[in-house]
Amino acid sequence: MKPTFIPLTEPDLGEPEIEAVTNVLRRKWLSMGEVTFEFERRFAEKMGVKYAFAVTNCTAALHLAYVVAGIRSGDEVICPALSFVATANAALYAGGEVILAGVTSPSDLTVSADEIEALITPRTKVITVMHYGGFACDMDRIMSIASAHALTVIEDCAHAPFAQYVSRSGKRQFVGTIGHTGCFSFFANKNLTTGEGGMITTNDDEAARQLRLLRAHGMTQLTYDRHRGHASSYDVTMLGYNYRMDEIRSAIGLCQLDKLDEMHCRRRDVFRWYAQELEGCPSITLPFVDRDLEAATPHILEVLVDADGDRVREDLRSEGIQTSRHYQFLSEFSAFRGVRSGAMSISSKHLITLPLGPLMTREQVRVVCHALVRSCQRHQTQNHSSPADLTCSVVDRS
Ligand SMILES: *Cc1c(COP(=O)(O)O)cnc(C)c1O
Repeated sequence: MKPTFIPLTEPDLGEPEIEAVTNVLRRKWLSMGEVTFEFERRFAEKMGVKYAFAVTNCTAALHLAYVVAGIRSGDEVICPALSFVATANAALYAGGEVILAGVTSPSDLTVSADEIEALITPRTKVITVMHYGGFACDMDRIMSIASAHALTVIEDCAHAPFAQYVSRSGKRQFVGTIGHTGCFSFFANKNLTTGEGGMITTNDDEAARQLRLLRAHGMTQLTYDRHRGHASSYDVTMLGYNYRMDEIRSAIGLCQLDKLDEMHCRRRDVFRWYAQELEGCPSITLPFVDRDLEAATPHILEVLVDADGDRVREDLRSEGIQTSRHYQFLSEFSAFRGVRSGAMSISSKHLITLPLGPLMTREQVRVVCHALVRSCQRHQTQNHSSPADLTCSVVDRS
């Protein structure tokens, strides 16, 4: 019998992407040009946002977001502590000082609005939110806190391309259109992938004017314009960067955009299967299970286990199941030692990322959940007065 291997995630790439890449190579224009502009147009149109600029990756998008927010040395940026390090690193590139806010609750791993509010000082300039796992942050509250203190909001949408925020009044808005800028990642494991890649969105005309320049060295004309004979000289008007996207990756992006809705349907199915399998397991918490799943773009499947997470991950690995942890709190990394932080309210030791992707099957979810439940029973930490508390329907159904 073939041993089980269930990868953490696997991208859905096929003939359309292969053909699109080949077409770009045949046309021989590789650097930023028509395909990239088409990718930006289609992305912006689908999102209903005024501007979208393709960039090399989401870290670059975040860097530019902090630059156009006007971050200067000594300005404080409140970032989610439970995020990828890029969210905070990009603020440091711009000269900001990072302050870390904890999560809302064990069942909602987005950044806590209460924490954000408590961490504001006269030096605070920006609030960065991250729509964790494809589930929107509490944007009504965060935007009202920001407006009360005249702060800029940056949305890290790396997990959430075309996720919607549903406000208390029932209004739906795409994340990345609510704050000043939205930053998207097309890294290999993201919901829409181009290998490496990113996009920055905004409705602000002045931010857009700067972003167009900042992504290409502050130059007033692109290589592409000169190639087309539209211009022969250019000016450099500000300190910019080389954060351009290229045609090969934009061609992949266009194919991925075409099937993104369908891939999200499949990711939602996988989330639902996990919810069914793990329902009634007292030692396992599945965050966001009460959210409107149709508004979300499930990116990672994070659970909190009432057990030593490292031991559980080791058990799963030995059964051929790849796992991860999203994330260690940034405050736990040595580079962030001494950074001012709020309360974390959960321990990252209990977090485990289970496999999730558009190609995952019902059977694979069943296998993962059975292994998880068995392992949690073996390594439970505390609190359960009798072993019976840990028995779970998922085991009985096998
Ligand atoms: C992946 C990721 C990034 C960085 O994206 P890159 O495209 O790899 O630069 C930033 N923030 C979060 C939350 C991410 O998951």
